[in-house]
Amino acid sequence: MRIVDAEVVVTSPDRNFVTLVLRTDDGLTGIGDGTLNGRELAVVAYLREHVAPLLLGRDAHRIEDTWQLLYRGAYWRRGPVTMAAIAAVDVALWDLKAQAAQMPLYQLLGGASRTGLMAYGHASGQTLPELVESIHARLEEGYRSIRVQSGVPGLRSIYGISAPSPAQPGQETHPTQGSPVARPAEEDWDSRAYLRHLPGVFEAVRAEFGPELPLLHDVHHRLTPVQAARLGKDLEPYDLFWLEDCTPAENQEALRLVRQHTTTPLAVGEVFNTAWDYQTLLREQLIDYVRSAVTHTGGISHLRKLLDQAALHQIRAGMHGPTDISPVGMAAQLHLGLAIHNFGIQEYARHGALTDEVFRQTSTFRDGHLHPGDEPGLGVTLDLEAAARHPYRPAYLPVNRLADQTVHDW
Ligand SMILES: [Mg+2]
Repeated sequence: MRIVDAEVVVTSPDRNFVTLVLRTDDGLTGIGDGTLNGRELAVVAYLREHVAPLLLGRDAHRIEDTWQLLYRGAYWRRGPVTMAAIAAVDVALWDLKAQAAQMPLYQLLGGASRTGLMAYGHASGQTLPELVESIHARLEEGYRSIRVQSGVPGLRSIYGISAPSPAQPGQETHPTQGSPVARPAEEDWDSRAYLRHLPGVFEAVRAEFGPELPLLHDVHHRLTPVQAARLGKDLEPYDLFWLEDCTPAENQEALRLVRQHTTTPLAVGEVFNTAWDYQTLLREQLIDYVRSAVTHTGGISHLRKLLDQAALHQIRAGMHGPTDISPVGMAAQLHLGLAIHNFGIQEYARHGALTDEVFRQTSTFRDGHLHPGDEPGLGVTLDLEAAARHPYRPAYLPVNRLADQTVHDW
């Protein structure tokens, strides 16, 4: 099974996606996701200029050898662009191998460990009534676990909350909602106001929806370690499923302070790209969930190693799943999540109708649970003609400033 063609397809049906298409001499086509939100074309250049020429003529069955060739052979290690490019190759090769084996990919990863993957959806509101309405809407869509994000009085626009519309010139709609922007939108932040407001939000949500509904919250790297410790303590009465990215974790030791002060479960790592970013977090059991996505962590091969290591410390998978993970990347994590023992929960934000036309999928979402389907391979096909109708559109993630205009974490 020799690779005879490696094509990089950029399409923007509802937002930008980068897909690697590998074709073999026996007529199979495998696809992998290399989408790096806001920096997509860096991965495109890495794949087209540096990786594709290395793949031509290679045996597509040699997944581990190809991974090591691309990782070690570059000399320059790690980094989001490199690891997204390697992920695209790795997932395309797994897709090919599973098609050649005539099996759904999860069978090659050890077979199913469960009947489906519990998924959580996003609810948000600028005000409490808007938030309650948003939670009801997700429940009606079939979600059985909910991430709760709330506006903060005095702040105009913050992470997870839709910007007021119509948008100000230069501050258009959040890119995850589909509009390309020429410049990053700017949002507000005030950690003290947030810390005062959030516990009351969760008290009200629990009062409305009762004790059983799993609730999650994403801090998006906004707090210092001691602020994060306080928030974890303050939210303990509301029994969160997890508190996510409560403080930037490049300094892994920062999580020690948070962990010492709260029993609220912690999830970290959607911006990390290798197992090396987690070594202290795993060894000292400073977190409960690994947030890494297949697409941003070198593919199935590398994330599997990280998650197996996490399993030794009773840490589970909670893979990143916003809409910038393409249907290809999402399918890869559904197969992986179905197979591993230490699956925890899957973030799941539905793609738009145009995306579903470009990427045909066999996965299902029923009663709060995802399943990748049982077609051979990943179960996703890329419609090249549909993809060509949606050219790349430049788009930035927002940036975030304090009241005195200091740039803060977004
Ligand atoms: Mg997050």
